[in-house]
This record gives sequence, structure tokens and C-alpha cells, in this order.
Amino acid sequence: MNNPIIWIRGDSWRANSYVVGNILFDAGVSVESVLPFKEQIDTIVLTHGHIDHTANVAEIAKICRATVFIGKYDLPLFREAGLSLSNHFGEQTPNCPAETLEDGDVVGEFVVYYTPGHTHGSISLFRESDGALISGDTIFPNGSFGRCDLPTGNYAELVCSINRLAELPVRSLWCGHGIPVVKDAKRHVLLSQYEVPRYG
Ligand SMILES: [Zn+2]
Repeated sequence: MNNPIIWIRGDSWRANSYVVGNILFDAGVSVESVLPFKEQIDTIVLTHGHIDHTANVAEIAKICRATVFIGKYDLPLFREAGLSLSNHFGEQTPNCPAETLEDGDVVGEFVVYYTPGHTHGSISLFRESDGALISGDTIFPNGSFGRCDLPTGNYAELVCSINRLAELPVRSLWCGHGIPVVKDAKRHVLLSQYEVPRYG
């Protein structure tokens, strides 16, 4: 039996977070919104280093006594304000220890897919048993996808990453922004795959 995926909606500029068992995915949401889960969370996984996904990670990690993980190649974004877009949002770049994840690593029920393009170190998380894809800012519903014109973004990498995710038997899409798609999500991923070449 899989853990349910609990959506904590990101308000204004903040990205969505998801609680799945002992894991919190992304940490841009308010500390208060995570408090009900503080006893169960011991791991925080960041899909990438942009501040709207990481703004409260240090405080949430402290409260939950959680270990923080981020894609290996996004560690610089986690540390440098110019790359994390912290300045843009008037926030401080998180300053907390983080472990790194690589393609093929397993976190809880999910496998890590290295999906660069939106940032060079973006990761997506896929749960094979029910086709749940936590896509960060790589793929959004309705054929949308993350921009690649920000620091460390790369269009060619984004196309490759979306192509790779389009191979997966995705059934639900848990996106970094917007409303998650809880069933029949494969068509949304295929629509992003169809749309992204027109963007370059
Ligand atoms: Zn982002």
C-alpha cells in the first residue's frame, strides 16, 4: 500500500509541497502549513534550488529534525543568492546542510530521475507502483513546462528531460506550481513533450 500524497498548496510565489509518509517534497510553503506533519517528516527532498521551492527549508528541517536532500548539481543554487533567485523574491538563500541525490537513487517509495533543463540540477521523483510523478518545475499540466532562461537553465537539456519522463507510465502528476493531476496524467506529460520543441 502506497503512502497517500498530501498536497500543501503553494500560495502566491511559493511552490507546492507534498507530504508522502516521512518525506516532504519541496519546502517553499509556510512553516505553519507543515506543522501538522512535523512528527512524521524526517526527510526533505528538494526538486531544485530555486527559492520558491526552498525558502523555509532550514526552519522546517529544524522543527522536523529532518535531513535535507537536493540534486547533486543544484547544490550551488542552494548556496548562492544570484542562482537561487532569492534576491528577486526578497528572501535569504537557505543556509542549511544538505545531502545530494543522483539519478537512480531511491528515496522512500520514489526513484530519482535527473531531469536538468529548468535548472542544471533539477530532479523528478517517480513512484513506479502507481505512476506518481513529482515533477518540480520540469513539467506542468496542460502542456506547460518550466522555463529554461534562468541561471543554469538549458533548453536542450529540458527537451531531453521531458522526453525521458514521457517514457514513464505516469498516472498522476504532482507539479511544483498549479493544481496536481490525480488521474490520467500521461496525456499531460505527452502534451508537454509535444509543445516543448516549439519553444526553442
Ligand atoms: Zn524553479
